[in-house]
Amino acid sequence: MSDELKDLALELRRHLAWQEADGSRVILGDRSAAVSKPAPVAAVKAAPAPVAAKAPAPVIRTPSPPAEPIAKRPLDEIRRELGDCQRCKLCSGRKTIVFGSGNPRAELVFVGEGPGEEEDLKGVPFVGQAGQLLTKMIEAMKFTRDDVYICNVVKCRPPNNRNPEPDEIEACEPFLKAQLASLQPKVIVALGKFAAQTLLRDTTAITRLRGQWREYQGVPLMPTFHPAYLLRKPEEKRVAWMDLQEVMKRLGKQSDSKKGQ
Ligand code: SF4
Repeated sequence: MSDELKDLALELRRHLAWQEADGSRVILGDRSAAVSKPAPVAAVKAAPAPVAAKAPAPVIRTPSPPAEPIAKRPLDEIRRELGDCQRCKLCSGRKTIVFGSGNPRAELVFVGEGPGEEEDLKGVPFVGQAGQLLTKMIEAMKFTRDDVYICNVVKCRPPNNRNPEPDEIEACEPFLKAQLASLQPKVIVALGKFAAQTLLRDTTAITRLRGQWREYQGVPLMPTFHPAYLLRKPEEKRVAWMDLQEVMKRLGKQSDSKKGQ
């Protein structure tokens, strides 16, 4: 070996010794060290994960259903489209489809649950005992039934006045949405659990939803108790009236009576 080669070998041994002392011998092909080395990089990559996890939070907190623009069409066109509807099993027991009634330019819309026996016979929403109470509530708010629009989540009477089932609500809901898009009211009053929970996509109990302003497709929505519930629990009329007074305020109406009953 020439002197030059000897010097080169010596230099190489010193270099290797320095690398070992430094703990960085990976350069010479220590694969296990090469694999373990990127660990801190992986740790750095993992660090931003909590930031990414926060991103969907605003969606979760969104209180109202996502705004899906629905075409504004005349109510009679929507009724024609509904036709002799057989889209859900409620069609088999109904006598009449109860589409809705009132002013097609109403600034105030009441949405209830579904027709009862009298409504099923007459084809008009809220004409039974609960309907008579609703009429009094509307008049106490200084409106008439002809000023407002009244409709239900399901348009056919559930047998024995049972609650509407999820598949029935789902089948009928597009027509309710189309009605509200047609009416474009200033305020919606959701009467009872089914109307409030359906429109708000919120399973919170009506006892907690009521009295709090919410929004449906950009329209202020006030959930309150259903008149049928108020007939069973007259002591709740006071808080329902407070809810309706909020609606009056929103619509610029002065309240001078104590109770809507
Ligand atoms: S409840 Fe609605 S979807 Fe079901 S049959 Fe009646 S109109 Fe059709």
